[in-house]
Amino acid sequence: MRLSQMLFVTLREDPAEAEIPSHKLLLRAGYIRRIGSGIYAYLPLMWRVLQKVSQIVREEMNATGAQECLLPQIQPADLWRESGRWDTYTKAEGIMFALTDRQDRELGLGPTHEEVITAVAREMIRSYRQLPTHLYQIQTKFRDEIRPRFGLMRGREFIMKDGYSFHTDEESLKKTYQDMHHAYSNMLSRCGLAFRPVEADSGAIGGSGSQEFMILADAGEDEVLYTEDGKYSANVEKAVSLTTEAEPSPFNTYEKRQTPNTQTIENLCKFLKCSATQIVKNVLYQAVYDNGMTVLVLVNIRGDQDVNEVKLQNELVRLADQYSAKTLLALTVPDAATQQKWASKSLPLGYIAPDLPDDYINPAKDVAPRFLRLVDPTAVNLTNFVTGGGESGYHVVGANWGKQFQLPKLVVDVRKALPGDRAIHDAKQKLQSARGIEVGHIFQLGTKYSKAMGATYTSEQGEELPFYMGCYGVGVSRLAQAAVEQSYDKDGIIWPVAIAPYQAIISVPNVSDSEQMAAAEKLYSELNQAGVETLLDDRNERAGVKFKDADLIGIPYRIVTGRSLKAGKVEVVERATHQSQEISLEEVAPTLKQWIEAAKLLPEH
Ligand code: ATP
Ligand code: MG
Repeated sequence: MRLSQMLFVTLREDPAEAEIPSHKLLLRAGYIRRIGSGIYAYLPLMWRVLQKVSQIVREEMNATGAQECLLPQIQPADLWRESGRWDTYTKAEGIMFALTDRQDRELGLGPTHEEVITAVAREMIRSYRQLPTHLYQIQTKFRDEIRPRFGLMRGREFIMKDGYSFHTDEESLKKTYQDMHHAYSNMLSRCGLAFRPVEADSGAIGGSGSQEFMILADAGEDEVLYTEDGKYSANVEKAVSLTTEAEPSPFNTYEKRQTPNTQTIENLCKFLKCSATQIVKNVLYQAVYDNGMTVLVLVNIRGDQDVNEVKLQNELVRLADQYSAKTLLALTVPDAATQQKWASKSLPLGYIAPDLPDDYINPAKDVAPRFLRLVDPTAVNLTNFVTGGGESGYHVVGANWGKQFQLPKLVVDVRKALPGDRAIHDAKQKLQSARGIEVGHIFQLGTKYSKAMGATYTSEQGEELPFYMGCYGVGVSRLAQAAVEQSYDKDGIIWPVAIAPYQAIISVPNVSDSEQMAAAEKLYSELNQAGVETLLDDRNERAGVKFKDADLIGIPYRIVTGRSLKAGKVEVVERATHQSQEISLEEVAPTLKQWIEAAKLLPEH
């Protein structure tokens, strides 16, 4: 492609709308253009990158025996009602764009495709002989993200590869899950990315085991906790650990004490000259289930620890049955306004005791009459602890479970693991923290969707059984931007060779010099013929401008038809290192071809 004929617009200044380097660079270098909140145009250079990423994804998927298809983006609400997710996705999480057609039928724009694929499978897959089967697609997804940001990282319209596999049993599912782990590792290595697979929470998609593939970068929205020995890594949403030891309590006798202005743990520690590890903290949450039932939740946890709301949410979803509900709509810390809806009198906030009486809850049809009480393991073994006095301005010290307070029956890990905690598998290993960008997520769904939607097959013994399912996603557009986040310098983008929009750019310093132009044209056709995707910068611009642009857009090799032409040579500059060497004209195409092949080889891992 000739730059003189291309829509090629670069910006000098960083656009105000962009916060992180990759977003700034993609805008400045003319790869993307913002059309609306979380909605972007992929311009020609970006589209080439996206196609390269897609092709690598496709090749690795095909190598596992998965088959490509394309499913509808407009999906009938009825399918989502069958799985029970319509309300969660349109109301609770609100992530699905929903609309009504002129016949008053409700529809959603696909944020993901479990329902559609399960509907296809229940009609097309009748026998165990057709299993396992794995279908995937590469397509635009729609999600009404609450905070679209960072360009393609969190868009409201983005490209995803999503695959769904069907199995007779868990063993077969686990095999495909393993194959996917391998395929995903290959994809990311081939795209030239440094990544880490981590244990993950399955979220609203549901199911049992899941892993995320994280691109390591400071701008990552996710926190990853890992150990140096490489044996443990998990998303902080899911991570478990051993806490530090609690310090022995200095309070040997039970006593209620006046503790003014000690609503925070920090103030309380200062006031009582104690350690946060000697405190039982009582945290109040308000849960609303899909049947409209409000449940007040009281969590006891050690004072120096925090509640991991993802874990708490998962536990509340597990308990939904008890409240005749299917799923949770919202989990919040009740503020003054929300408290008024259910509290019979004002709560001693900051001084709540583990035995907060149920009569704080006003009797009402849609409010559970008792607090749901649960205790985190960190609070279970504390003795002579400090905790709220149940009255504003008071705490108690020297308290014990089984004496002053009854230990809740529900002991559940709802604790947020912290960097510095000891690892479960080896207490000598400390958890370390890193930032990551989630580009892939693989799940073992089990029979969640097949059971809910009545998707069965006939087994060898003639029984009708629900499919075991897995699902596997890669954010193609997020991955492309993550590659930039991992690879840039002060001059611009440094694309990994495998996903660069073009592999080489010929910069002609002076287009009115006929010798330079002739050499450039010849190289241009030789390189393209050799399969090296090449840009020709034939614009009537100063050499400095051309070099800056070539650096900004991040093409791996720049060829300059300059002074060395006299000696039958050109200068070839490697973008990543800025190293340059002179290569004779006839050697350019074969040399670049060889470098590119070498750079694309799957690195060892
Ligand atoms: P996140 O936790 O970042 O919101 P998710 O858990 O909702 O992601 P999945 O449903 O697992 O994501 O989707 C599979 C992949 O699609 C993700 O790993 C990510 O790479 C990509 N993805 C998800 N949401 C977006 C988005 N809003 N913009 C761009 N890519 C996205
Ligand atoms: Mg996720």
